[in-house]
Amino acid sequence: MKELLILSGKGGTGKTTLTAAIACLAKDKLLADCDVDAADMHIILQPEQTERHDFISGVKAAVTPEKCTGCGTCLEICRYDAITLDDKAAVDDFSCEGCGVCSHFCPEDAIELEPNHCGYWYVSHTRLGTLVHAELRPGEENSGKLVSLVKQKARERAEQEGVGLILVDGPPGIGCPVISSFSGTDMAIVVTEPTRSGLHDLQRVMKLSMHFKVPPGVIINKCDLNMDLTAEIEQFCRDAHVQVLGRIPFDEDVVNSLVAGKTLFEFKDCKAAQSVANIWQHIEKNL
Ligand code: SF4
Ligand code: SF4
Repeated sequence: MKELLILSGKGGTGKTTLTAAIACLAKDKLLADCDVDAADMHIILQPEQTERHDFISGVKAAVTPEKCTGCGTCLEICRYDAITLDDKAAVDDFSCEGCGVCSHFCPEDAIELEPNHCGYWYVSHTRLGTLVHAELRPGEENSGKLVSLVKQKARERAEQEGVGLILVDGPPGIGCPVISSFSGTDMAIVVTEPTRSGLHDLQRVMKLSMHFKVPPGVIINKCDLNMDLTAEIEQFCRDAHVQVLGRIPFDEDVVNSLVAGKTLFEFKDCKAAQSVANIWQHIEKNL
């Protein structure tokens, strides 16, 4: 089984649109949406949820009001300012880091550490195959762990279904969720655009990909918006011995397809779709 990870140095480069378009072309595959902080593949694929599971990670403090005498010890020692005190103490879930100090020092044993419900992960049916995806609750910071969980569940499901490819829509940026998304990946596709920040972000993601020994390939989206920068990106890739898998021209039909809730290939045989088809042929040979 192969895993293909699609990344971008930042959001808004067309990563998810490309993943969904590739999903139309790839046979025998399963989809994993690892952009858990702002998942958006469901907008195009309109999944029918078949499973929903809790994502629990870490602990948070919880006060039992009946036991609390309002002594203020916890308020004084919480270094994260997560406790407020009226006549009883209360914990602000958004600020609590689950360090347990308040629970340890409460003279009345009024504070327990409870499992932290951070979000959900799902298995869904879509017209392009099974999708494993997730949702992190607002303010939660365990997206790296959730990405690992989504990937693990996607592999289990892919084995059950006997599919040969997992297409992973990766998180944007270069943080913890992206690092988690590299595990077990056979190839990373980095989607960039011809802007200065696009080149800078590409350099950072490529460095990360090489660090984890995952061979990267680059796609330049909206390449004709700045041909000088497109040439500069290609030169940078040549110097770094990184393959440019192809260019995709700016095409209004990309936005129109999103508005219609369709993938590029389901919407129209446009010039962007033709470029993606050529790129996919190239990727298939390299996988
Ligand atoms: S330390 Fe315990 S008893 Fe004192 S205010 Fe906090 S929760 Fe209440
Ligand atoms: S567990 Fe730590 S961070 Fe949370 S309220 Fe208690 S002392 Fe503060």
